Amino acid sequence: MEIADGVLKEVKSRVEVEERRDDDSILPLQLSTSSIVLKHITSIIDETPFFSSKLLELVKKVASYTAAPIESVLKAALPAAVLKKNVKPRELMFIEPALSPLAHGSGPGAAITVTKRQQWLYDQIVRLGGGWMTQLCTELKTTPNTIKELGKLGLVKVAVKARRRNPLGAKRILPTKPLPLNPEQQATFNLITRPSSLVPLLLFGVTGSGKTEVYLQAIAAELECGRGAIVMVPEIALTPQTVQRFASRFGDRVAVLHSALSDGERYDEWHRIRSGQARVVVGPRSAVWAPVKDLGLIVVDEEHETSYKQDETPRYHARDIAVLRGRIEGAKVVLGSATPSLESWRNSETGKYERSVIRNRAGAGTLPTVRMVELSGGEIFSRDLFDAIRIRLDRGEQTILFLNRRGYSRQLVCEGCGWVATCARCDVPYTYHRADECCRCHICGEWINTPRECPSCKSTQLSYKGIGTQRAEAALRKCFERATILRMDADSTSRKNSHDDILGAFRRGEADILIGTQMIAKGLDFPNVTLVGVLNADSSLFMPDFRAAERTYQLLAQVAGRAGRAELPGEVIIQTRDASAPIFDSVVRCDFERFAANELKLREEAFFPPFCHLAVINLRSENMKLVADWAEMYSKSLSNFAAKSVTAGRFEVSEAVPSALEKADGFYRWQVVLRATSAAALVKAWRWLAEARPAPRDLRVNFDLDAYNLA
Ligand code: ADP
Ligand code: ZN
Ligand code: ZN
Repeated sequence: MEIADGVLKEVKSRVEVEERRDDDSILPLQLSTSSIVLKHITSIIDETPFFSSKLLELVKKVASYTAAPIESVLKAALPAAVLKKNVKPRELMFIEPALSPLAHGSGPGAAITVTKRQQWLYDQIVRLGGGWMTQLCTELKTTPNTIKELGKLGLVKVAVKARRRNPLGAKRILPTKPLPLNPEQQATFNLITRPSSLVPLLLFGVTGSGKTEVYLQAIAAELECGRGAIVMVPEIALTPQTVQRFASRFGDRVAVLHSALSDGERYDEWHRIRSGQARVVVGPRSAVWAPVKDLGLIVVDEEHETSYKQDETPRYHARDIAVLRGRIEGAKVVLGSATPSLESWRNSETGKYERSVIRNRAGAGTLPTVRMVELSGGEIFSRDLFDAIRIRLDRGEQTILFLNRRGYSRQLVCEGCGWVATCARCDVPYTYHRADECCRCHICGEWINTPRECPSCKSTQLSYKGIGTQRAEAALRKCFERATILRMDADSTSRKNSHDDILGAFRRGEADILIGTQMIAKGLDFPNVTLVGVLNADSSLFMPDFRAAERTYQLLAQVAGRAGRAELPGEVIIQTRDASAPIFDSVVRCDFERFAANELKLREEAFFPPFCHLAVINLRSENMKLVADWAEMYSKSLSNFAAKSVTAGRFEVSEAVPSALEKADGFYRWQVVLRATSAAALVKAWRWLAEARPAPRDLRVNFDLDAYNLA
């Protein structure tokens, strides 16, 4: 600890004196300590180190695994609010009764004369057991000066104490009791709490299967033994309702961390965690770093969510760090999902993780029936979906229509038959590049001239655009003139709170149909919704990304979970231009395991994760030629390096290609994709490259290991 402490003080001072603005420009060259010029310590922020030796070990491992500078990991691990000079504890006056009622007025020299009013006030403060000055003044209809008078008489103690800025506000939260677990939940609970095994557990349970109840009881078991817990939830699912479920069970022992906290709230929550006042942390990705003492359990809910991957340096994946931290700290790790990531699923097949399955819903509601409907060219709504909507309108039930905007971008699609231009070598759709009128594969770099007509049906109606929510809404209004329709997308929700307004109105039954994008896919629970329609299942399927099928499956399964949550049975209609795509078979049967088995076979054949590690080198510059030249040079250099230096396993270097998002914020973007059997080989190659071919000033380069964003 001595040594760690010394290192830490240096590190802390570095954090304080150096403000790095542009994360992307940091190259891993600075990693070796010999090249670091240490600055002088200007002040010590805190006597106790911010990082325990175990957390520091985690930080170092993450820095070296993601090839990120260690200070960037330290910064990610510590809320900025904790380091800000102007953020301090909120100190307020706290009043405590000082004397026992018997003591005053008796005994030698203790005679105190008090007025009736003072006696009454004193009695009230005793009854309340003390309190904050402002609260007492309101409650007892008195003034601070009157209470301070009591202080002078020695009847009460007036002290300045730190008062928590509570993110949950002053709302009274009703406590809840553990529910009796059903057999599937019980089996999972037993697996989590089984003694001595520290193998991570993948909990595969359908939406509404009662996973959260299991987490709550497993956490309670840890608290019972004096250990703490971290629960990670994707930022967008971190709603007040979610937080309340934990607060209702564990009260003040819960600390909340999320992006909407004020600096003061974040400061307080973090210190409550570090001091051990709070033992259960609920938060998004960054909660994986929470300084919980005696950590017993880490839960990663919706573990497949890509928001767990940080999109800037350090590009860590919070799920993977949770597993690493569990190993370092001897804590149990539970990864929960209704549609696990294929990485975790495979780990549960090879025995690296344990697996537990909950197949049935715990509360009310059955799984909905799901069917596919094929669209013909140009159609937005199929006959089947129209009829189904009309039935709901007649019955006074509600409908959710979902427009998949992911991958709205640029593949070339035939309006006639649904053919999509695809790279034969990689089986990934080409990305259309307007600039040079060509279609490129973003995996191998292969390109073709943009075809004039569809090779399959000879139609010349080739398009590279999807439909938007507004167009769909307009079409809907024309057909159902008397229906009330609400639309929810980035445009309709830009006003603050409009998100909640729209959902509130829909919940109150003020509209028949809610149409929207991804935003409506998650976590919403509407008892009167009996029909969910997906207008365009394909748009995310044909993305230039090897995870396209996985994401589509997750999305569709999640959307389907919106139907029939309560007493009424639900129906899901999914529209596609090609119902024969194998993925839909699994979607219709709600059979994740079948989907996973098929998809893993394809991944293995094509040498994609989880059968390899994949890294993307992203290059950006305002200079179009510079970025292209360097990307090409990188690709060649790495191929040579791999041929000479990589001795074990496979190592594949793609050609340099413009990113799917070719130009953003005035920067031209290119990328090189690397795939290798071992992650270490990728990091080694990148380190070599960054040192041997340092980028010029006007070129920004970053390295994204286990990349999730291939755009
Ligand atoms: P998940 O986290 O898997 O989506 P939840 O934990 O939110 O599922 O549970 C879904 C619903 O089922 C909730 O309303 C919850 O209160 C209820 N529930 C969970 N477990 C039980 C149980 N053992 N008995 C009765 N109801 C339960
Ligand atoms: Zn065609
Ligand atoms: Zn290809």
